[in-house]
Amino acid sequence: MAGNWKMFKSPAETTTFFEKFLPLVAASHHAEVVICAPFIDLAAAIGATQGSAVAIGGQNLHWAKEGAFTGEISGPMLKAIGCQYVIVGHSERRQFFGETDETVLKRTVAALEVGLTPIVCVGEMLAEREANRTNEVLKTQFDGGIGGLTPDQFSRMVIAYEPVWAIGTGKVATPEMAADAHRALRGSCEARFGREASQAVRILYGGSVKPDNVQGLMAQPEIDGGLVGGASLEAGSFAGVVNF
Ligand code: PEP
Repeated sequence: MAGNWKMFKSPAETTTFFEKFLPLVAASHHAEVVICAPFIDLAAAIGATQGSAVAIGGQNLHWAKEGAFTGEISGPMLKAIGCQYVIVGHSERRQFFGETDETVLKRTVAALEVGLTPIVCVGEMLAEREANRTNEVLKTQFDGGIGGLTPDQFSRMVIAYEPVWAIGTGKVATPEMAADAHRALRGSCEARFGREASQAVRILYGGSVKPDNVQGLMAQPEIDGGLVGGASLEAGSFAGVVNF
């Protein structure tokens, strides 16, 4: 269960969140729990979660290790501060910051090279779903991004299926819709990396996951976890998702 805080919270608010959140999930051992925080909150998040089972991640990384890239953060930097995960190719980055399948692949490889687990996001826009193009869009995103990994790299990543029309809109995909998309993605994984690897890879669903809809989604065997935006910002609601 991964939380994506997007561009919310100060370091002080981060500390307050974990003071409330950690006791609420202390007895939860059924899921790996991750918070992907803004860069300026990572130190506070990593300090607050020392000794707990909660892992911390970034929300993006540059593919270069270092260099003249004003405003960017690299994989070695995320690793050095104590991150274990990083989100790559979130739809907000694809929509507003020019992310392409090609740059998604470069960032994913850069994350893996330093031992970070990339959570690579794919998903269709509303018009694409309405035109019955969901599986075609997922295949294109897979082929241009994740499909370019080696089998070893693929075994160390997590996929997040996030229909763009469900992100931050309150419109959650039905469990069946999400499971269909996960099956299509797993089919692409099998065609490229084989059956065993495709069964082992974790595919998270993201898009308006909340405490009151998480159970139905997680009841689908195809859905291995969630990438949660809005509902991860408040300790009680994210604990409600984690403890479904
Ligand atoms: C997200 O940011 O990845 C996300 C799924 O957001 P929300 O849960 O708010 O729809």
